[in-house]
Amino acid sequence: MSTLHALATMIIAIDGPAGSGKSTVARRLAAELGLTFLDTGAMYRAVTLAALERDVEPMDEHACGELAQSLRLVFDVDGRIRIDGKPGEPAIRSDEVTRWVSAVSAHPRVRAAIVPQQRSQAGRGLGIVAEGRDIGTVVFPSADVKFYLTASAEERARRRALERGEPERFHEFLADIQRRDHHDSTRHDSPLKQADDAILVDTDGTDADGVVAKLLEVVRGGRSG
Ligand code: C5P
Repeated sequence: MSTLHALATMIIAIDGPAGSGKSTVARRLAAELGLTFLDTGAMYRAVTLAALERDVEPMDEHACGELAQSLRLVFDVDGRIRIDGKPGEPAIRSDEVTRWVSAVSAHPRVRAAIVPQQRSQAGRGLGIVAEGRDIGTVVFPSADVKFYLTASAEERARRRALERGEPERFHEFLADIQRRDHHDSTRHDSPLKQADDAILVDTDGTDADGVVAKLLEVVRGGRSG
């Protein structure tokens, strides 16, 4: 198999906690390598948004699971999610969705509805860069390359405050990040955790350009651990 062909069908998994820069880095890595970008968090956010809009109780596993089964979630060419044909952005990033998404995504029935859809993206033979919490451990355990991005909670909250242009909300963002870290890493089904064969990348003090360069070096160098 030629190197170019191998790259074109590659599956790259990027996991890590909220605000570790996964989305930015994964999107750019996919663009650099000509691969499809898969934002798995957007799918859980879409289910959460639909639950809030339709008065489905976020703590009700059965109802959330049925809702997740019934939604048509597709990504447009820019990798932005569409929910039953309508754009999910920016509503899926609202504070209200962010508050509830960890509870909704912890339901095994929701994950059972969503994970097969994530796998089918790779089933089409397309190379992908998928980012989330359980990509290297559960969704694509045999991904070609796995990264686990981290940064301190303070650094992640600082980045979020900067991104949103709301420095005064630093402490609020920090509390949200700590709450989601705890929720996502202690849940029973598919907790946030570094895969044994994932490469740990600490992004504290490194900007997105630096992180993308580092990941590209690993992928192009053909190293996987
Ligand atoms: O990555 P993002 O912050 O958009 O993810 C939102 C939430 O979706 C996470 O806090 C987590 O609860 C859930 N999630 C998940 N599994 C994934 C991706 C996201 O449980 N693969």
